[in-house]
Amino acid sequence: MFCNLIDGQWRGSGHAIVNRNPSDLHDVVGEFATASAGDMRDAVAAARAALPGWRATTVQQRADILDAAGSEILARKQELGTLLAREEGKTLAEAVGEVARAGQIFKFFAGEALRGHGEWLDSVRPGVEVAISREPVGVVGLITPWNFPIAIPAWKAAPALAFGNTVVLKPAELVPASSWALADILQRAGLPDGVFNLVLGSGRVLGPAMLEAGIDALSFTGSQATGQALAADCAARGIKLQLEMGGKNPLLVADDARLEQAVECAINGAFYSTGQRCTASSRLIVCAGIYDAFVARLAERTAALRVGHALAPDTQIGPVASEVQLAANLRYVAQGQAEGASLLCGGDALQLATPGYYQQPALFAGCTAQMAISREEIFGPVAAVLRADGYEHALALANDTPYGLAAGICTQSLALATHFRRHAEAGMVMVNLPTAGVDYHVPFGGRKGSSLGPREQGRHAVEFYTTVKTAYLGL
Ligand code: NAD
Repeated sequence: MFCNLIDGQWRGSGHAIVNRNPSDLHDVVGEFATASAGDMRDAVAAARAALPGWRATTVQQRADILDAAGSEILARKQELGTLLAREEGKTLAEAVGEVARAGQIFKFFAGEALRGHGEWLDSVRPGVEVAISREPVGVVGLITPWNFPIAIPAWKAAPALAFGNTVVLKPAELVPASSWALADILQRAGLPDGVFNLVLGSGRVLGPAMLEAGIDALSFTGSQATGQALAADCAARGIKLQLEMGGKNPLLVADDARLEQAVECAINGAFYSTGQRCTASSRLIVCAGIYDAFVARLAERTAALRVGHALAPDTQIGPVASEVQLAANLRYVAQGQAEGASLLCGGDALQLATPGYYQQPALFAGCTAQMAISREEIFGPVAAVLRADGYEHALALANDTPYGLAAGICTQSLALATHFRRHAEAGMVMVNLPTAGVDYHVPFGGRKGSSLGPREQGRHAVEFYTTVKTAYLGL
């Protein structure tokens, strides 16, 4: 049984989550102890007790620990990637890439710990100087989703620790193994007891318990419904909040797009990682002049995608992560057909050699902006193609969404690319690239219903994980 990490101790419980491989339900990845609300209270108390010691460490000590953790993650990327592919279902190549990303993030924030983030200014008054410094925000709660089992915990925990905060991580129930491995690595890298705590189990039980126990800040990534409920609770309690939620990201294909490049962007953005990325291109908005050629080529490519066991070398699309998600995807496929969209290929659940949650990627054409498959985040391998009269119409369709995470355009025109970059209502804009796939040293996040609070990642992470102090010094 894999246990919770509370105050430096691995603590079990009477209950366990059985973590199964969505590529092969006979394959048990492990049994993970589920924590109670009392365990969560203990974890927050441990983080509170560890805070004065951790914030007093030198930046060199913090940098060394984060760097050591990053080195171990990178050295074990094949093994940890295999574990991640077994618990989440993304292909081995995608999983190893995600683990490597987690390692790079720890190395980046080892550097950030060392770099100064303060300012020193002259006052507007004579004989006075002003010092602006940053201090840790305190005990930080991290709640993470299942689709990036190690990268998201890494991109929250690394800056939190780098800037002197203590941490309680509550990962998604579906993917405890990668977070457990991360906790084990951090503990062995030399973190003092209580600085990083791992609490596994139900969000409905442990989320409220975390807030009640008295954290100072909460960084949440997950669905919009959960995020909005947490926002109300955090506001009432005065807890600093960062929310990263869903997306319904458009890829706009202009008439002058290079056909093969645009199709490649659509295949990658819509279907890789089984469509289970918050930045997935789930809406493909195609201008009339290229529509027929684009749809024909995309349908051909989509139908040829190889769905299979995540660890099989020729698999391009792994299984859906869970039975619940697969059932939701199938409901959307049925709804798309009922609302009058044309299902060009895929959509069905597949029976393969091993029992798992396989689905053939679904491509719908002739979609209208009002259809549920064009408006709601599906979070699976289902893409909706919408036809636009021209660029202005396509841009209006792209922005006609309550979400605003990522938006992409395929065009050879610098003028169109520039116009789109300025007018797309999204936190991240991609030109001739898939909407999914980002760097780790630059800000990540969205606007409208996708995000709330400061950006994650890169140098911008300092905004959330520190609080600013302004000091006036009379000479
Ligand atoms: P979810 O909201 O169901 O769960 C996310 C986390 O919240 C889990 O750890 C869960 O246990 C916890 N949780 C559930 N109920 C809770 C409650 N009442 N209080 C506190 N915590 C609670 O989301 P999911 O299904 O795990 O993830 C998929 C969603 O995540 C999608 O909407 C996707 O777009 C989003 N996502 C967003 C980003 C981004 O950066 N914008 C990145 C990845 C995923």
